[in-house]
Amino acid sequence: MKIVTKRDRVSLRRRVDQGTEEQRAIVQSILDDVKANGDKAVLAYTEKFDAVQLEDYKVTKEEMEDAFASVDGEFVEILEEAAANIRSFHQKQSSQSWFDTSEDGTVLGQKITPLEAAGVYVPGGTAAYPSSVFMNVIPAQVAGVERVVMVTPPGKDGKVPDGVLLAAHILGVADVYKVGGAQAIAALAYGTETVPAVDKITGPGNVFVALAKREVFGDVDIDMIAGPSEIAVLADDTAKAHEVAADLLSQAEHDARSSSVLVTTSQALAENVQTEVEDQLKSLPREDIARRSVEDYGMIIVCDTWEEAIETVNEIAPEHLEVITADPIQELGKIKHAGAIFLGPYSSEPVGDYFAGPNHVLPTNGTARFSSPLNVDDFVKKSSVISYSAQALQKNVDKIARFARLEGLEAHARAVETRKERWK
Ligand code: NAD
Repeated sequence: MKIVTKRDRVSLRRRVDQGTEEQRAIVQSILDDVKANGDKAVLAYTEKFDAVQLEDYKVTKEEMEDAFASVDGEFVEILEEAAANIRSFHQKQSSQSWFDTSEDGTVLGQKITPLEAAGVYVPGGTAAYPSSVFMNVIPAQVAGVERVVMVTPPGKDGKVPDGVLLAAHILGVADVYKVGGAQAIAALAYGTETVPAVDKITGPGNVFVALAKREVFGDVDIDMIAGPSEIAVLADDTAKAHEVAADLLSQAEHDARSSSVLVTTSQALAENVQTEVEDQLKSLPREDIARRSVEDYGMIIVCDTWEEAIETVNEIAPEHLEVITADPIQELGKIKHAGAIFLGPYSSEPVGDYFAGPNHVLPTNGTARFSSPLNVDDFVKKSSVISYSAQALQKNVDKIARFARLEGLEAHARAVETRKERWK
C-alpha cells in the first residue's frame, strides 16, 4: 500500500462499471423478452446463465423451513438479534403525515403512504448474503410496505443458499423466487405469471443486474447503482496500526476495485500500517482480491496538518469513514460527506455491516456528497394535501389568476376565477 501526500493523491472516483456495449445490448434484449414472454423467458435465461432447468421457481414453504432447520440454533439467534437491532434503528427513521390548519380554515399537509410492493435483489454467486436480505427488507417492512418480493439466482443444484432463505424466513418474507441477473430485474419491474410486479427495486448485484436496474428506472424506482465498496480511516497516533490495517483489509477483500484509504498526520502510523497491511494480507483467504485492491485503489495519505486531513476525507466522501483519534466526537462536526461514520476504536466497520442497526447500503463513489444510506423514507411517498377554505380563496384568487396569466396560462386563471360566482 503506497504512502502519498495530499498533493499526490489521485482521485478514486468513477469506479462504477458502466458495462460494455455488448452487455448493454444483452440486458436490453433480456428485459424485452421477459416483458413480452414472462415466465417462459425467465426460465430459459435461468437455464442459459445459471445452468439449471426449473419448472417452478417460487421457493416453497418447505424449502424455507428446511433452511431454518438446517442451520445451528446459535446462528439463528445471532441473525435474530441482528435483525432486531436493524429494525429498532430503522423504526426511529419513520416519518409521520402532518396537517397544518390556518385560522381561515385552510388545511395544508403531507400524507405519507408506503409503497405497495418492493422487490429485493439478493446476489448469488459463491457467497450467501443474509445481511443484504436484512438491510433491504427491514426498512421496507418498517415503512409499511405490504408486499416484499425477493429474487436471488439458484445454484446449479436449483437451490438458494440456506443463509439467504433463513434470513427471509426470520423476516417473514414468503415471496422468494429463484431467478437472478437481468431477467430477475425484468420480472420485478414488469411482472410475470409467477412474479408480481413491484414499485421499487433495491439490492446489489453484478454488472447485468446494475445495467438492468438503470434501464427499468422510470417504470419503477431503484435504490442506487452501487460501486465497489470503500473505507477511509481518519486516524491520529492514538490508533493501533494492526487494527487500522485489519479494518482497511475488511473492505479490500470485497472486490479488486474496492478502495481502502488511511488519512493521517502521523508518519509513524502510516509506516506501521503499511507493514501491517502487508503482513495481514499473507494470511487472508481472499488475499488475491484484497492485494489487487490495496495495490490499485488503496493508499495512505500523510497530511501536513489536521485541517488538511479533514479536507481530504471530505473530498473523498467515502462510503464508510472510521474516525480513530483521541477524541472522535470532536471531529464529527467537521465531517461533511460520508455514508456511515464509525467513531472510536471499538466501532470497526463490520460492526455496522452486520449488527449495530444502521443500514449498510450506502452511497459509494463520492455520491455521499448528495445521497444517504438506504432508509425507511426510500419506501414511502409523500403526497401534498391542499384544502383551501372559501375565505382563503376569496382573499387570494386575483393573485393566483394574475400569476397564471403571467405564465400565459389563461385556463389556469379562469379555473380559479370561476369560483368567484360562489360569493356573488
Ligand atoms: P449476481 O446475483 O449479481 O449475478 C448472477 C446472475 O448474473 C446470474 O443469475 C445470471 O443471470 C447473470 N449473468 C451471469 N453471466 C451473464 C451473462 N454472460 N450474460 C447475462 N447474464 C449473466 O451474482 P454475482 O455475479 O456473483 O455478483 C454478485 C455481485 O454483488 C458482486 O459484484 C458483488 O460485489 C456484489 N455485492 C455487493 C454487495 C454490496 O453490499 N454492495 C453485497 C454483496 C454482493
